[in-house]
Parts: sequence; C-alpha cells; structure tokens
Amino acid sequence: MNGRSNYSVEETVSLSDFAGNQFTMYRLNPVGYAIYDHNNNFIEGSYQCNSPYDAYDDGTFYYVGPTCYYVQDENGILDIKEGITYSSSQMKGGTYALRPNIELEQMGSSVSTNAYPSPVSGKSTTYNDFTVINDYNFFRKMSAVPEYGTNTCALVAISILMLYCDTFYNDAFVADNYILETSHVYTDYSYSVSDIDIDDFQKSPYATDGFVKLLLEEYASSIIFTDGAMANAEIRSTINKYIEAEASSLVGNYSTDDGAVFFTHANTRDFIADGLPVLISMTKYTPASETKASKTKYHTVVAYGYDSNDRFLVHMGYRDEQEMILSSATIYSYYALTYTGSHVHSCNYKAAKSNGTNWGSVELGYVCGCGAVLDSNKNVISD
Ligand SMILES: [Zn+2]
Repeated sequence: MNGRSNYSVEETVSLSDFAGNQFTMYRLNPVGYAIYDHNNNFIEGSYQCNSPYDAYDDGTFYYVGPTCYYVQDENGILDIKEGITYSSSQMKGGTYALRPNIELEQMGSSVSTNAYPSPVSGKSTTYNDFTVINDYNFFRKMSAVPEYGTNTCALVAISILMLYCDTFYNDAFVADNYILETSHVYTDYSYSVSDIDIDDFQKSPYATDGFVKLLLEEYASSIIFTDGAMANAEIRSTINKYIEAEASSLVGNYSTDDGAVFFTHANTRDFIADGLPVLISMTKYTPASETKASKTKYHTVVAYGYDSNDRFLVHMGYRDEQEMILSSATIYSYYALTYTGSHVHSCNYKAAKSNGTNWGSVELGYVCGCGAVLDSNKNVISD
C-alpha cells in the first residue's frame, strides 16, 4: 500500500485459502496491515486497525477474502469473526477458495468511461490519497455498530446508510428510539451555541441492535436466512419495504440506483464523487458445504472513498473497522440512494458544556448534520 511514507513493514505472514492458494500479509508499524495474493495484487488492508489474526500468536492462518479469517488450533479451524470452530474436513474442500467469479469481476472493472472522477466542489473532497464524500468523518467516526447475530452484514450496512440519511438528509429515515445518539461536553463554560460543530464529536451516532432485528424480522429478503447472500436487488427490496412501512413520509422523495457485474466500480466512484455513500457487496468464496457449487457468499460494506489504484475506502460494518481499504476486484454489486426531498433537521448529536464550577455540565442542544442547533423539542436555536 503506497502513499504513507511513515509506515513500515514490521512482519511478513503467510496465509492460504483452503484450496492451497497462497497470500502474503504484511503487518505494518505503527498500526495496520495489507494482504496481497500470489500475483502481488492488493486485496485488503487498513492504516487504522491491525489484522484480525493479530489476536493469535501462532498457528496456521487461512484466508478466503475480506472478513473471512480463520486460524487452526487444537480444536479445529476457528472462524475469527464468527467465533465458530469447524473441523478440518468441513473446510478443506477445493471450492472453499477466494473469488470464484474473478473473471466476471474483472469485466466489471474494465468497462468504464469515467474511471476516476475528480472531487466535485461542495460534494466530495480529498482525504489522504482518497476522494471521499464531504461527510466522510461520519463513517470514520462510527466506531460502534449494531451487533445482531450472523448473516446480518447487509442489514448492518443498511443501518449505517439509514443513519447517515437520517443525520444529513431527513430526520424521518430512522425513528429516534432506534438511534444511539452521541454526545460531547465542551470544557469551556463560555462556549456558545453558535460554536457547536459536529467535527468536534469523537464518535458518530449509530443504530440499535433492535433496528437490525426490525429489518431482519419484518423487511429483509428471506434469501439471507438460507445462505447469507444479499446483494443489490435484496438491499433495494429491503430498504423500499422498510421505508414504505416505517418512514412513509419519504416515499416519493428518494431515488435509488443499483447494479451488478457491469459498471460496478465506475458507477460507485461516480456516486462517491457526487457525495453519496454506496453500499457495495463483495464476493467472498463458495462454501465447500454447499451442494450447489455456484452459490457465492457476499459481504456488504459502506464505501465512502476511492483512489486511483482501483481501491475503495469502506466501513466494514464491524466495531473499530471504519477505515478499511479494499481492492475493487472483490466487488460484485452496488446500491446508492439519492434523497430528493427537502431537508428535515435531526438531533443525533447532543452537545453540553462544563458549568464552570464543578464536574457537572449544562445542556447546549442538538446539532444536525447541516450544522443547525436545535433544542430538545427540535426547534432551531442557531442556524
Ligand atoms: Zn439540518
């Protein structure tokens, strides 16, 4: 991963998938990692967090794509993310390998007319080597997310997108009781309401576990119960059903665009340049336990940046994994939502200040993504 001169390689670690294909992982100093395939193609990495393998001192490490990390111990093969241990015979099938659809994915990558758009003034900007949406700090600071069982990654990604829309577009996207607001106390007791800025907050608001439960039980496509696969069409259906039932004032005030295989990468970049976060579904692997070898596993994440080396900056949908870098070669489909209605202020950021005499604090108000400050009755007290 070029572009960061103050990072050095601390250790080189060998990984393989269950078909014997080799990968190389570099542990970076002071923090971070990068995984490359046997042809030296970058697959995934981060400058923000260490690899999931770092929690394990030694052993045989297996890798079948982003979010699919395994370590062999005396009990079997542990899925690091899910915490489930499998027997060796369950995993070591020739089909349990990374990226079975790579030829299709490369086709999607090559078909593009405007591969790397420049930042659009007022909509996107530059962060390190990436073109990012203007509100990129919302994703960088969402260090916690709802956690609700396995096979819900697409629903967690939807929750992140809905919270973004609620914070920056219209307060109706997510009901307040499904939002864990974030708060910030200014130590300066002379601080005034007009000085409040969401960039001062250390963490972003996020959705409750109950929000993911609601999506899963009421609105999600039944396909996720069978094999965890949820790509653009299932995401579109889930969001439309959710909005019709839970946020009906938004019907007619948004449009969506999604697709798979063709233009997947170019369109995703265009939306990000236009200031929109994009849900992207990555192919992971074909499980050996499936009798139909054509079934593919997906993982859905939220992309909010891209660089000129065919990589995306994403929130992975996991706690403390909000600045991950992924090769576009793993991406199968995209989904973007454009809000076309008028802005309605939200109250997801709560500001207070020291009262100057003891450790207590004085409430200042709530700040919307647009910068307006509101009181607890959602009346604007400062624009
Ligand atoms: Zn507002």
